[in-house]
Amino acid sequence: MRIENQKVNLPILEEKRVALFIKREDKIHPLISGNKYRKLKYNIQKAMLGKHDTLLTFGGAYSNHIAAAACAAQEYGLQSVGVIRGEELAFKWKDNPTLALAAEMGMQLKFVPRGDYRKIKNGEFLARLNDEFGRFYPLPEGGSNTLAVKGCEEILTGEDADFDIICSSVGTGGTVAGIINASGIDQHVLGFPALKGDFLKEDIRKFAVKGNWDLQTDYHFGGYAKVTPELIRFMNDFKRETKIPLDPVYTGKMMFGLLDMVQKGQFKPGTKILAIHTGGLQGIKGMNAKLKIKNLPLIDL
Ligand SMILES: *Cc1c(COP(=O)(O)O)cnc(C)c1O
Repeated sequence: MRIENQKVNLPILEEKRVALFIKREDKIHPLISGNKYRKLKYNIQKAMLGKHDTLLTFGGAYSNHIAAAACAAQEYGLQSVGVIRGEELAFKWKDNPTLALAAEMGMQLKFVPRGDYRKIKNGEFLARLNDEFGRFYPLPEGGSNTLAVKGCEEILTGEDADFDIICSSVGTGGTVAGIINASGIDQHVLGFPALKGDFLKEDIRKFAVKGNWDLQTDYHFGGYAKVTPELIRFMNDFKRETKIPLDPVYTGKMMFGLLDMVQKGQFKPGTKILAIHTGGLQGIKGMNAKLKIKNLPLIDL
């Protein structure tokens, strides 16, 4: 699959003499986050080789992974089950764009109390899920496993070898691990976590085979799926100026952080940066519904 690197033209980049390109993985699929497609590819292959007919996975109400798993399962003729955090959603999932989309793609949704969700995720309830849904191919929350990382190793191509720095948003860390594995030793990978937490480095080290990387932890905006009016304004400005849409959970935060670092002179003049647009645009609708209730500025569509 050929994904274009699009040059970003902004006055601040010119002023600081930093070249920024965005790899448009968001264009892989209108509904699936680009990186989720990469993460699912080899898992679906393995599920089908193992004669599985059902994919079962876990996620929250706005999860890009849930949407992607539902969509990919349907594309490959597999059944899918989504174990969703939050019992209360059983009565209002139709109002949630991500869950409504997943259901439309044929995903069977099972809602579990938040307390139980953690235990289920940790494997304690897998046997019980087997009783309920029969044999299935399990995927962890967020979809990160060895095969997912292998899929993400295909994000970078030979043509990306002359970038000095490669940036990616980080959730569970599988995507950035794949990028690290595929990067050159003279390249530096910079991850922007979309959530608070020190556990991420450990998680990345489980999958990453090199040490040429760092996390920039100053741009989580209060935590996972948390946004501020400043972030929304930035995303809308960025879209107006570059025509590139960003998502509020991952890529918006990464791009805010990256341009803030450029502004602060943290990159030498002449630096060539490649930022991965991992997608996530399906999440904008759900976020806007939440912002509207709080009377906050909305993300431009
Ligand atoms: C899931 C996701 C990420 C994070 O990927 P991980 O492999 O969990 O770190 C980044 N960007 C988007 C758009 C995503 O949907």
